[in-house]
Amino acid sequence: MTNTQSTDVILIGAGIMSSTLGALLKELAPNWKMTVFEKLSNAGEESSNEWNNAGTGHAALCELNYTSEKPDGTMDISKAININEQFQVSMQFWSYLVSQNRIQNPQEFIKSLPHMSMVQGQANIDFLKKRFKALSDNPLFKGMEFTEDPEKLMEWIPLMMNGRLQEDHIAATKIDTGTDVNFGSLTHKMFDHLESLGVDMHYQHTVTDLKRTNDGLWEVKVRNLESGTTAVHKAKFVFIGGGGGSLHLLQKSGIPEGRHIGGFPVSGIFMACNNPEVVNQHHAKVYGKAKVGAPPMSVPHLDTRFINNQKMLLFGPFAGFSPKFLKHGSVLDLFTSVKADNLVTMLAAGAKNMSLTKYLIQQVMLSKEQRMKDLREFIPNAKTEDWDLVIAGQRVQVIKDTEAGGKGTLQFGTEVISAEDGSIAALLGASPGASTAVHVMLDVIKRCFPTHIKEWEGKIKEMVPSYGQLLMNNQELLDHVHASTAEVLELNDPTKTRGSHLLKQA
Ligand SMILES: Cc1cc2nc3c(=O)[nH]c(=O)nc-3n(C[C@H](O)[C@H](O)[C@H](O)COP(=O)(O)OP(=O)(O)OC[C@H]3O[C@@H](n4cnc5c(N)ncnc54)[C@H](O)[C@@H]3O)c2cc1C
Repeated sequence: MTNTQSTDVILIGAGIMSSTLGALLKELAPNWKMTVFEKLSNAGEESSNEWNNAGTGHAALCELNYTSEKPDGTMDISKAININEQFQVSMQFWSYLVSQNRIQNPQEFIKSLPHMSMVQGQANIDFLKKRFKALSDNPLFKGMEFTEDPEKLMEWIPLMMNGRLQEDHIAATKIDTGTDVNFGSLTHKMFDHLESLGVDMHYQHTVTDLKRTNDGLWEVKVRNLESGTTAVHKAKFVFIGGGGGSLHLLQKSGIPEGRHIGGFPVSGIFMACNNPEVVNQHHAKVYGKAKVGAPPMSVPHLDTRFINNQKMLLFGPFAGFSPKFLKHGSVLDLFTSVKADNLVTMLAAGAKNMSLTKYLIQQVMLSKEQRMKDLREFIPNAKTEDWDLVIAGQRVQVIKDTEAGGKGTLQFGTEVISAEDGSIAALLGASPGASTAVHVMLDVIKRCFPTHIKEWEGKIKEMVPSYGQLLMNNQELLDHVHASTAEVLELNDPTKTRGSHLLKQA
């Protein structure tokens, strides 16, 4: 073991979360020394990689699971508003980075793409119509359109309409200000920027242990995977941004806030179209409704994607089960995450989620032809030979004891766990994920640097003008944010799109 090196901040993992926190902290405290450890040979190779996630800029423009019908029949859009507001925070920070020349060529990581929801059958159409009406009244969702008109649908989604029976009753909403985000490219751009400012990047370095010292610092044990040597690094603040690897590291930290928490891995599989003629017939992200019993992250969608400047077409994700917590993880991950303090929580979760586990195992066993059947609900004429399977990333859902759900409740959101003294924080969970990275990392900063936050507030507002406010309550600021982010990021401008209208009432 070599001698100990000291730094101000250690970021574990080189995914979108660490890159975002690093980029924010470099603006707020430019003189702080920062070191990054990543076990793979490059940044953004796990969930943040463009092939491992769906690249949706989640703003609740098309994801039906962010709105639900209340018992009185009205539509609850509070979650959709929340996610949209959080996405606006990301857009503002990305646009700050571009306008200040910290990162360049926004087209390489974000592109405008219509976001659509599509449903079939009267009950679903009634739901979509209600959702549309509720969202249209909110300034965040300006420009959304609804139709049940087959001719209009043919114009919007010809690939999905060709080959349908006349009696198929379909409705859709569409908004042209949705986005496709290449989170892998964005992660690279932010780390390149950080490296140019002297941040120490260490690839093929895996963090194996971490412990708090008597002087209030953290000692992080790191193994160099190339040389096989181990070194200890000290830091005042540690961020555990290991994606699926975060839970094990949080447990190793021994902080009481990390107790009684478990993880449940859900894997993702996409189908990618290999026929350019088919790819070119579609231009949207089209989200459907999740099947009964399916977890929210396996809502099927047919997505135009832009990967390495090439237009692609992906369908999925199909959920699946693997005990690995990272795509490049170990089959022992689930087993080794069970500790004395979370055993009861995990057992309770196991008992409660038998049907989910069964569903996931059934999903893994699906043959390609069975997956094609699901795809044909979106593209009736899809040909088996045009589609290949692509293994996506792992999402580790948080399991914890909650008042509402009791012991072992499966959470589908993102959770920041931080020590009381703010010296360490970990990010668990993966939804809505990368799209809300800036909001989540600002939360980490607020929790972990309470003595600095006052002095940093001005700079945060320069980077994120809406910080501390709800855009939906401030039309002037919302218009400014929409117009300026659209200009800088070279996107469709919501202030210039048509007002919402119902194209055809049933
Ligand atoms: C199938 C799927 C679809 C998704 N779709 C979307 C979407 O459409 N939109 C969206 O916004 N989000 C989406 N997400 C979620 C999003 O991808 C994640 O929330 C996000 O990428 C997580 O970023 P991260 O930095 O926390 O983790 P990661 O990108 O996984 O990075 C963690 C890094 O830590 C490293 N690491 C782990 N352990 C250690 C260790 N001990 N030492 C050193 N390094 C370590 C890993 O190698 C990895 O590089 C999707 C996820 C999946 C799986």
